[in-house]
Amino acid sequence: MTSIEIALLVLAVMLLGYVLGRVTAPEPAPPPAPPLDEPVPAKSSAPRTDLLHIESLNGPVLILRGTWVEAANSAACSLLGRRIVGSDIRLTVRHPALLDAVEQVMADGASDEREITGLGGGGLGQGNRSFRLRALADAEGRCIVLLDDVTQAKATERMRVDFVANASHELRTPLATLTGFIETLQGPAAEDEPARQRFLGIMAQEADRMRRLIDDLMSLSRIELDKFIRPNQPLNLAGIASEVARTLAMRLEADQRQLVIDEPAGLPPVIADRDQVLQVLHNLVSNALKYGRSGTPISVSLVAGGDHVRISVRDIGEGIAPEHLPRLTERFYRVDSQRSRTMGGTGLGLAIVKHIVERHRGRLEIDSRQGEGTVVSFTLPAAPG
Ligand code: ADP
Repeated sequence: MTSIEIALLVLAVMLLGYVLGRVTAPEPAPPPAPPLDEPVPAKSSAPRTDLLHIESLNGPVLILRGTWVEAANSAACSLLGRRIVGSDIRLTVRHPALLDAVEQVMADGASDEREITGLGGGGLGQGNRSFRLRALADAEGRCIVLLDDVTQAKATERMRVDFVANASHELRTPLATLTGFIETLQGPAAEDEPARQRFLGIMAQEADRMRRLIDDLMSLSRIELDKFIRPNQPLNLAGIASEVARTLAMRLEADQRQLVIDEPAGLPPVIADRDQVLQVLHNLVSNALKYGRSGTPISVSLVAGGDHVRISVRDIGEGIAPEHLPRLTERFYRVDSQRSRTMGGTGLGLAIVKHIVERHRGRLEIDSRQGEGTVVSFTLPAAPG
């Protein structure tokens, strides 16, 4: 909520108080806040509806006179319970930071702003939510409390910080290897030709790892930029899996793997971005190559299903333990980091897949059986008939 909105709210409350004061009999003075050991008085028969304008505000809003809650919007009632209206906040909310903010404002008339957690702890997972609380006094000596749910914003910020730390770490590792070998080649191994050749080979591999990582990071950021722009062009999927097979032909052959494509004739066109579908298939077949058993086939099947086409990539291999499945699409999450790195993985392949599928409003499913193998499938919306 902006400061202009807050100012408007205060003005609206004042104006309403003034109008009510003129057209209705003056309101009886509010009951004084009871001492803490007194039971909560029964709330008035109907919740106050005269402050309807606070309903139009998104976040929870309370209006207090002293510690007495005069009004609360629906968001505040669903967070703190409907019984707060007409109650003493010290008895019904019992949140020290909120009470402290209200007390401060009532004492010196200034405003108070702070971040609080643990409000509305009764509801499902509500106690973990974080709010930015702003409390301010109006001209009638009431205290307006505005709560802004910042849980999501904080989680996003934490993810961003973690992501930057992870990406830096991933880049630093090959860089440290490169620096180490450069120093060795400049010093002790300067005249050692066989060592020189071997080290240069490792350096080339590490440089390639850095390039793949940067490519994947760039892909992710491009996909994130486009994530709210839904693809709008029809795409014929015929031949798309064969194109991926051609790109990966050398790797498939080196591991004696065959890509078996099941692509029925007459598949309906989908609404999709061709390059991104190719990228998803490339990442999934690459994973089947990296983590499936050498010499076993990898199958890609395309199946029409009403309003969508489902594409599945299946491998035969060790599979993935169930506890890892929900986290596989997180950036840099790997079941076995060493294995992923040895196989040339960046830890970003499935995160890219997830973002692309989400952009297409499709569904991604990962199904795996330990000792048998893994099937990753995704849907793409069929183009309207
Ligand atoms: P990576 O670059 O490490 O392969 P991904 O995001 O593509 O990163 O995959 C994340 C992790 O999921 C991998 O490190 C691997 O542990 C696991 N994984 C992905 N695909 C498969 C698969 N087909 N079989 C077994 N494990 C897989």
